[in-house]
Amino acid sequence: VAKRLENFKTTIFTQMSLLAIKHGAINLGQGFPNFDGPEFVKEAAIEAIKEGKNQYARGYGVPELNSAIAERFKKDTGLQVNPEKEVTVTSGCTEAIAATILGLINPGDEVVLFAPFYDSYLATLSMAGAEVKSVTLCPPDFAVPLDELKSVVTKKTRAIMINTPHNPTGKMFSREELEVIASLCIENDILVFTDEVYDKLAFEAEHISIASLPGMYERTVTMNSLGKTFSLTGWKIGWAVAPPHLTWGFRQAHSFLTFSTSTPMQWAASVALRAADTYYEELKRDYLAKKAILVEGLKAAGFIVYPSSGTYFVMVDHTPFGFENDITFCEYLITEVGVVAIPTSVFYLNPEEGKSLVRFTFCKDEHTLRAAMKLACFAL
Ligand code: GLN
Repeated sequence: VAKRLENFKTTIFTQMSLLAIKHGAINLGQGFPNFDGPEFVKEAAIEAIKEGKNQYARGYGVPELNSAIAERFKKDTGLQVNPEKEVTVTSGCTEAIAATILGLINPGDEVVLFAPFYDSYLATLSMAGAEVKSVTLCPPDFAVPLDELKSVVTKKTRAIMINTPHNPTGKMFSREELEVIASLCIENDILVFTDEVYDKLAFEAEHISIASLPGMYERTVTMNSLGKTFSLTGWKIGWAVAPPHLTWGFRQAHSFLTFSTSTPMQWAASVALRAADTYYEELKRDYLAKKAILVEGLKAAGFIVYPSSGTYFVMVDHTPFGFENDITFCEYLITEVGVVAIPTSVFYLNPEEGKSLVRFTFCKDEHTLRAAMKLACFAL
């Protein structure tokens, strides 16, 4: 393996899902729904395939999808963007993250992450030769330590990466936090890369895109995807919205990473994004019921459960059960209890910081969630 990746292992999500299968355990680890996406979107994909929309798509996206994304961005943020010059379709948000970093970061540039961070950020920054600084969000509220953030910014800081609603903590960045980050970026000429794939799973707070703050659009790449909102994580349709000068670098990387994204799925995605508001309301209502089952179950089992405002994840402290760290706890949970969660120490530069924390997901049907909580209450 190349030096730039030698410190990375198989992703924790893959490891945990394999263990779930091996031990026949209930998988509340990797965040993928065990129910299907909406019929009207699946039908749209079948139609697109039958209609012969099967050859390479335009590199930066099928025109109908670029405009559907621009329309949704306008609705969500109030910002009018040019679908041809400022929207790029990618193979999932993970590719958007890679194209952003590889297209806009030079070796030696400093990039600030908030820990715990989604695993692909660090791996891709490593591929780009970036210097990573991290600022840790701590329980119970995972608030941004603003003074510490200011102290890690230097002349070499090129970008700050945000993820709101935040995986794995469920934290949502508040307007005040985003305003401080914005003024820091404007003062020091720093870019913001923001991953907002859980924006429609905002339960306890209002989702705010940092691009909508004054002076920020011109320095922000906003990334999103179809998978979480439409329960279609396997389709791998993502996108980025950014001003033309940033889109240029982004598209250079995208052209040589994947060139283009699945044509029929892009057509179906354009239909999905034009869904009525009632679709999003129902999605949230269903997820709130699931969340309640998980949170009550985890509390009843004896975990310290931290409040989660958005995403379909909940962070807990497992230390009441007396295990050495998150890995040993998760091993016991799989083999002796029959439930899979995600140990979080891999999401920190210093793994010690995550050793008391594990993440559970509630993107499963209610029967599965109840069965898992019954096992946890019984066997822990
Ligand atoms: N985003 C999903 C999660 O956090 C996992 C995606 C993956 O397996 N790479 O669970």
